[in-house]
Amino acid sequence: MKKVLFIVALLALVWVLPIARASAPFDGTIIALDAGHGGGESGAVGYCLGVPVAEEDVNRAVRAELKSLLDGVAASVFEVPQLASRRDRVQAAEDAHADVLISIHHNGSSNTSTDYTQSFVTQKNDKELALPIQSALAAALGLPDRGIKSDGYGMTVYGSLPGVLTEAYFITDTDEACDFLGARARVSAEARAMFDGLATYFLSRSDGGGGSCSPDAEKQGKC
Ligand SMILES: [Zn+2]
Repeated sequence: MKKVLFIVALLALVWVLPIARASAPFDGTIIALDAGHGGGESGAVGYCLGVPVAEEDVNRAVRAELKSLLDGVAASVFEVPQLASRRDRVQAAEDAHADVLISIHHNGSSNTSTDYTQSFVTQKNDKELALPIQSALAAALGLPDRGIKSDGYGMTVYGSLPGVLTEAYFITDTDEACDFLGARARVSAEARAMFDGLATYFLSRSDGGGGSCSPDAEKQGKC
């Protein structure tokens, strides 16, 4: 009987351990998610067979899917209220003691076949967060990787918490707009990539990599 109990306990441990490992990077983290625009501001607008797709709706859909992935590993998610002022949105995230902030956007162009992945940062600690997220997004979406731009854009100019503004793809691209009105495979792929990028970020910090950047690595833009 004891032997059976031991085997049952062992099996339970084997079953639980991978789950514990999977959630470990997010232990105790608070992740602020901003869905860009809203509050009467639609952002970019794409079209599929004449039907408009507003960027604000795509931003919100990605946030909802990413939130449910993070809820699954017991990370704390703070949904930034869609305030008119970007400064106030960042303040809300800081007041919630968020560790990081992702401002989710989608790009726009008058060319309906322009499509690539790009992220924006401002402060030094933004880039460490942006690197794993940008590379996961570009890989998952299979689009040209236009990298991370540091030019004081959007919400990343405010506050001091690490933040990144993502433009995962162009909602004005006809295929992207039609996917949003259909299967929403791109929303799922984007949310999963952001989740993976966040896991990489927090894992590197829990390994002692956070905040430590050699001068050489910094020159090469690796941190
Ligand atoms: Zn936008």
